[in-house]
Parts: sequence; C-alpha cells; structure tokens
Amino acid sequence: MDARRRACLEAMGLPAWSRRPDRILPGAPFPAVQERVAQQADAPVAEENPARLDWDALEARVSSCTACALHAGRTRTVFGVGARDADWLIVGEAPGAEEDRQGEPFVGRAGKLLDAMLAALGQSRAQVYIANTVKCRPPQNRNPLPAETDCCAPFLDRQIELLAPRIILAVGAVAARRLLATDAPVGRLRGQVHHYGPASIPLVVTWHPAYLLRKPEAKAGAWQDLVLAAGAAGAPRGSPG
Ligand code: URA
Repeated sequence: MDARRRACLEAMGLPAWSRRPDRILPGAPFPAVQERVAQQADAPVAEENPARLDWDALEARVSSCTACALHAGRTRTVFGVGARDADWLIVGEAPGAEEDRQGEPFVGRAGKLLDAMLAALGQSRAQVYIANTVKCRPPQNRNPLPAETDCCAPFLDRQIELLAPRIILAVGAVAARRLLATDAPVGRLRGQVHHYGPASIPLVVTWHPAYLLRKPEAKAGAWQDLVLAAGAAGAPRGSPG
C-alpha cells in the first residue's frame, strides 16, 4: 500500500491493512481496485468502514468526512442523486460552485446537457443515479487530484456496490482514470465496453458534458457512446425477458 492511500485510510478512521493475497477477488481487473476491496472487507469495525454502511449511513459518513483538504472549502458535500436501485450510474468529476451550493451533482449548464442526453435515451435524472469521483468541490473548479479521488474512492466504491448498476457511464477523463486506473485519454477509451470491479460491471467512457458544450461537434460521438452503453446495460430490471 502506498503512503498516500495509507494516509487517507487513517484519516477516515480505517485501519491501514496491507493486502492479503488470498483475499484478492478473481475477475477484478486492476490491482488498485482489488486492494481496496480487500482492505474494506478485512476492516473489523463496521461503524466507520464505508464498505459496511447502508445508503443513509454512508451519506452521513460522507457529510462529516475530513479525509482530504477539499473538506475545508466546501459549503456542503455532494453525495449523489437519483434512484438507489437505478440500472444506470453516471460518474462525473467533481462538484462545481452551484453543486456545492445545492448539494446535488450536475445542476449547472453541463448538468442541463447531461439531462438532455439522458432524455434522448428515455431516461430521467430521477431514474438513474449520478455521482462524482469526489464529494467536495475543488477550489477554482480545478480537476480533483489523484490523492483526492483516492481519498473519496471508498465512498464511490460503496455507492457502486449498493447500487449494483447494470451499466456505469464514466463522463470525462477524471472519472475514467478513477474507475479504470488508466491515464489513457477519453478519445482512446471510448467506443468499447470496459468492466469495473469484482462484479465486472460494464462501463462505457464518454466525453464530459462540459467538453461537449465547448465542442458541440463531439456530440455525435457521445450519442454513439450512449447507444453502446444502452446495449451493454441490456433490458431494464423488471422488464420481461
Ligand atoms: N457537476 C458535477 O457534479 N460534476 C461534474 O463533473 C461537472 C459538473
């Protein structure tokens, strides 16, 4: 375990366990994910461990988190929004100014475009679940640093575990880097179905809506990504066949 991850775990009140090879789950694609899952499964104290919390306890835990420096600048944490049994999980970067004020992800201009993209798929904001790689706003709306996304990783990982979505749509490079542990650009990650975590959840990468606002000509590609994601998600839960 590297020093950064150890510091995060300690700041969150979690024991900094080292990896036990026999707990590494088969099928988890990346060592960082495997290690985190193993640490969480091994942690003995349920109360403080995000991996054992239900939705409400997890949200409360996030709202009091001081694990990284971002907490100092927040008005409120931005936990996530939507149906807690949604088929679709959308993962963005980080809260901006308006999200920080309202406590809800994607409420600014980029959010309106995301809503329109979802509507084109026949989905509403209330039907999907939307979260970010970090729950607190970075200063000057800069991208979250890897150390900050690492600190928030147990929260997003637990949200994914509780939700068990049929598809994850990672919007933008920060979400793709956090979920796929890669520095590859979005342009190279698009157009294929990746998989996330021990449950191998299908994951599609697409352009961030803020990028699409600057580059409307990329919208056609984003639509192809959404169609790819819809195909990977398969039939909605509860539908016949
Ligand atoms: N708002 C969010 O909540 N996330 C983003 O990535 C961008 C805007």
